[in-house]
Amino acid sequence: MAQRECVRIVEVGPRDGLQNISQFVATEQKIGLIRRLADCGLKEIQIGGFVHPRAIPQFRDIRRVAAETDGLEDVKLTALVPNLRGVQDAIACGLRKLIFFFSISRSHNLNNVRRTPEESLAALRKIREETLSAGIELRVDLATAFGCPFEGRISEDAVLRSVEKTANLGIREITLCDTVGFGNPRLVEEIVRACRERFPEVVFGMHFHNTRGLGLVNAFAAFQTGIRIFDTALGGIGGCPFAPGASGNTATEDTVFLFEEMGIPTGVDLPALLETARHLREILPDVPLTSALSRAALPRGAAIP
Ligand code: ZN
Repeated sequence: MAQRECVRIVEVGPRDGLQNISQFVATEQKIGLIRRLADCGLKEIQIGGFVHPRAIPQFRDIRRVAAETDGLEDVKLTALVPNLRGVQDAIACGLRKLIFFFSISRSHNLNNVRRTPEESLAALRKIREETLSAGIELRVDLATAFGCPFEGRISEDAVLRSVEKTANLGIREITLCDTVGFGNPRLVEEIVRACRERFPEVVFGMHFHNTRGLGLVNAFAAFQTGIRIFDTALGGIGGCPFAPGASGNTATEDTVFLFEEMGIPTGVDLPALLETARHLREILPDVPLTSALSRAALPRGAAIP
């Protein structure tokens, strides 16, 4: 393994993990969870979305969550923004990095955000102008990069075209999302290699769902192809309304374990993270945690400090 490399784990549990959970998680619990995650050494945490409360009722308290986690030291707190209004609200609440998303698949974008991809790109253009003048970082997530529940396989060309249109707007951080867990390691390798070769100016991250159990092997394939940024959710929570019953995001604790066991630093304190996963179980008694490490103890003499 090449020396002195490390990976950045982006915790998406408070956003992707909670957004589809119908039970409202109390504001204090959200704030407490985000603080604990920061204490575990996670340097980037998605705290929610500045969306209409009718669209995602779970985030109706986003302003308070943002206000009460503002100023956490050494941590970048980020939020999802679907439109200009969300961007302005998020900036007013002190967020310094925002995430816009759209689907490469036309059908998924229409179903998910009721816009064509062209309409999403037009919105992105305005959002980019706004964040640029406010000095705010903007990352773009491309959903269905490895397959779509409506359209099936997404071609490499379609992925490259969406990346190109996004990069042409000046976006330099793009996350390829396996929204419903259709990716496999070989496909991931092909897509990542093509994207990195074509767009060396863009920093790519990966967002895998473990819908059919391939989350970690996909992460490893992406790592081997040069990716160093991974979205994960504590406990493997999160799902997709179009894949009912499926397990959620690749789990943070399993991903941290994977890399640390290989001697690749993540900066995350795994025992503290497992303690936080136990806390999450108390917050969400009705949501099963799907991470392997929420069921198994750490091996004796594990490489974890
Ligand atoms: Zn997701």
